[in-house]
Amino acid sequence: TGILYVVATPIGNRGDLSPRAQSVLAEADVIACEDTRHSRPLLASIGVTGELLAYHEHNEEQMAPRLLERLEAGETIALISDAGTPLISDPGFSLVRAARAQRIRVEPIPGPCAAICALSAAGLPSDRFLFIGFPPRTSSQRQRWLEAVKTETGTLILYESGRRAAATLSDLATVFGAERRAVVARELTKRFETFLEGSVTELSQQVAANPEQQLGELVILVEGGPAEDADGDRREQARVLQLLADELP
Ligand code: SAM
Repeated sequence: TGILYVVATPIGNRGDLSPRAQSVLAEADVIACEDTRHSRPLLASIGVTGELLAYHEHNEEQMAPRLLERLEAGETIALISDAGTPLISDPGFSLVRAARAQRIRVEPIPGPCAAICALSAAGLPSDRFLFIGFPPRTSSQRQRWLEAVKTETGTLILYESGRRAAATLSDLATVFGAERRAVVARELTKRFETFLEGSVTELSQQVAANPEQQLGELVILVEGGPAEDADGDRREQARVLQLLADELP
């Protein structure tokens, strides 16, 4: 059987396409990408002109079995997405799962990922984090979705479009409290890369007031909630018990 390579591609800066990714793409029998028109220029820039197949959220179901057949016939397939690492808020999960279920070799070719890229330079705790992808589109759904991670102590990482960033930051303030610290990382690896840092309220106001911050793609990172203080809890219990004991005859 063949090999399914899961290949990360740049999130803005073409220089981030690794030499290993380039050689895997050059040698693959077929490259499965979300949008052939989008990926062709990147591939052409490294001299790759081979077969491209569209594999995206709307045809994943039909395409996965066809790609599996080709893998079983011994072909090498490189899976890429429009940008960054496939499967990370991008298609590929059903294909990878099905390939593994059939004992087909799946090899990752690591590289850019907006979430990790943002975390690596945001200055928020990075020892524990939770990636939660794109928030729902309406404010009420978003608030309910945020409620579920309100007590998470690790840094939260969200994907958002510039257009909806101010609204999402304002929902973060509603659910997590106005003072929760956050970072907005925009246009990573591109010419107008910016990192904004502040409370969710400040950031929501800044983004709302600055049309430039509403353009392009961004990652929102939110500092985790306070860790539960086990010692504090025990001290509080002892204090209450003492108060009760004092009242006993
Ligand atoms: N698979 C990609 C990855 O590994 O990061 C993510 C794909 S997802 C459809 C696109 C989202 O990723 C954008 O809406 C944005 O939140 C984030 N993103 C992608 N490129 C970015 C960049 N250059 N700067 C900031 N955020 C980016």
